Amino acid sequence: MKQTVLKGGKLITGERCDVVFQEGKIVEVSSEVEIDNKEVIDIEGKYLSAGWIDDHVHCFEEMSLYYDFPDQIGVEKGVTTVIDAGTTGAENIRRFHQLAEVAKTNVYALLNISKWGIVEQDELADLTKIQEESVAQAIHDLPEFIVGIKARMSKTVIGENGITPLELAEKIQEENNQLPLMVHIGSAPPELAETLDMMEKGDVLTHCFNGKPNGIVDQQTTKIKDFVWKAYRKGVIFDIGHGTDSFNFDVAEQALAEGMKATSISTDIYIRNRTNGPVYDLATTMEKLHVVGYSWAEILEKVTTVPADNFHLTNKGKLAAGFDADITVFELVEGTKELVDSNGNTRTAIQLIKPVKTIIGGRLYDN
Ligand code: ZN
Ligand code: ZN
Repeated sequence: MKQTVLKGGKLITGERCDVVFQEGKIVEVSSEVEIDNKEVIDIEGKYLSAGWIDDHVHCFEEMSLYYDFPDQIGVEKGVTTVIDAGTTGAENIRRFHQLAEVAKTNVYALLNISKWGIVEQDELADLTKIQEESVAQAIHDLPEFIVGIKARMSKTVIGENGITPLELAEKIQEENNQLPLMVHIGSAPPELAETLDMMEKGDVLTHCFNGKPNGIVDQQTTKIKDFVWKAYRKGVIFDIGHGTDSFNFDVAEQALAEGMKATSISTDIYIRNRTNGPVYDLATTMEKLHVVGYSWAEILEKVTTVPADNFHLTNKGKLAAGFDADITVFELVEGTKELVDSNGNTRTAIQLIKPVKTIIGGRLYDN
């Protein structure tokens, strides 16, 4: 099979970068490769990075509460890989897997510890829905697809159960090879202090910069709470998970002012916050972190190498020989755009990031 070369692109550092791939894998990355008899995709002057990974989405189209279509939030938005964050549980993840298999976008899933995921908003209010054996069976049956587990720990989800669902999630994690655990936070109960106290290095806290009173900022002092710093320093992963309700500019800016940055950047996208905002797509969430003060280089890491490491996607996240040929080609465009967070606060971006070509497993798609 012929090799393909992505020719004339540059990294975010400005360095020239040609990428050669064949049969879905990258075979060479260098500042200048010979064209020989390779098929050429000319991207002269455009930027490229490893394919963007969005590690918090909802894309099982047969649900009614939070759903979307993998390719509409993935390849069409410059995103090569999405991780569905607990839309399904042990009883319906096999059906989701069937649909995910035919998407152009790479799709992985975090298994909700509740048996059919987010059919209703309060999936952890009834503890009999957490069935350890069927969870273990699903993880056993779909080892390539299920890359972690999910527990939503906020008032509307847990009912009267306090911290117990998180204890059960950690037990499940221990019994299943320490799979990555993503924990959603929101309104109390449980108190954030209690949730963070139970989380370990490598566990993922999503909705880290939400603007709720039970979030990371002390409403009185407007400083980051001490116990939050403790968890951050311990190595708990702080994931954006923007969502309809969970990203606040003031919180993100306060954190940055104190030296705390989100570890990974993700959208929590589903059809309504994609079409009506405030999420729209991963690029828009990346623009929001740029306006807050993150550099494009670190933003790109937080949607490539970082999520790949966090969820053990060992063939993804890097432009290097042997890795999957997943690549996002993009432009940085000067222009103004009003960005709105989940609480109606606005900021104006003056530099925008626009994906123009998406390559997934060596196949090219134009954006
Ligand atoms: Zn959530
Ligand atoms: Zn979510």
